[in-house]
Amino acid sequence: MTGFENKVILITGSADGIGKSMAERFAELGSNLLMSDLNENINLIADEISKKYSVKAVGFKHDVSVEEECINAVKKAMDEFGRIDVLVNNAGITRDNLVLRMKEKDFDDVISVNLKGPFLMSKNVFIYMSKQRYGRIINIASVVGQSGQAGQANYSASKAGLIGLTKSLAREFARRNVTVNAIAPGFIQTKMTDKLDEKSKQQIISQIPLERLGLPRDVADAAVFLASDSASYITGQVIGVNGGLYM
Ligand code: NAP
Repeated sequence: MTGFENKVILITGSADGIGKSMAERFAELGSNLLMSDLNENINLIADEISKKYSVKAVGFKHDVSVEEECINAVKKAMDEFGRIDVLVNNAGITRDNLVLRMKEKDFDDVISVNLKGPFLMSKNVFIYMSKQRYGRIINIASVVGQSGQAGQANYSASKAGLIGLTKSLAREFARRNVTVNAIAPGFIQTKMTDKLDEKSKQQIISQIPLERLGLPRDVADAAVFLASDSASYITGQVIGVNGGLYM
């Protein structure tokens, strides 16, 4: 894949899991990175990636559910790099429980991070992308936003909402040559799915036609495609990276 040298990619929640894997994949291709995360170690993680791939990678502590912090994260990216080509709204949390046991706070927190966060980031990044007349926004949704999932009413609702946000932003931003798409991963091997016990994992795998959990890299490759010139006529779409679990 070519055309990524010196592109500027802002990835939220990139200290670990899928976000970190995406950061490494874009760095391999020569892109510069603004890596944001709640995790204090994000600076060290960005430094490691910077050295390993000889790109500029800047880490920035950031809570996507707080507007002021989103404004600062976007400002930081503009101060460091002067432009933002790609925003990946990746930060996400789970607070699983059956609805009857789910606390109001667990519902609100998940919606704040998984849905309000991408709204705040997209809004603030679009101010600059619209001036550039170029930009790519990639939202990391989930298969359970498409299918629903018992025990994850808050999380499924946030991800279904994110798909609605993706399509609405795609319509609003298209005239400025900014595309907005979503990736809906299935079950991917990260600390989010490490919480599942072995029996639940085997049960999930038995329902996946490709008979394995996904790897963070599988999602990263889809993000690279959506950010590439090959995807310039694709907007408002949801790409499933789920081993066939949901069709
Ligand atoms: P992960 O390993 O838990 O990584 C998520 C990162 O986001 C963590 O570094 C986390 O920091 C950070 N984060 C949490 N809240 C944040 C906030 N308010 N502001 C900024 N950063 C925050 O999760 P993952 O599995 O890689 O998931 C990445 C994305 O893919 C999420 O949106 C998730 O919903 C989605 N997804 C994952 C799967 C899967 O099977 N893993 C499937 C479908 C969709 P802390 O660790 O400090 O909290």
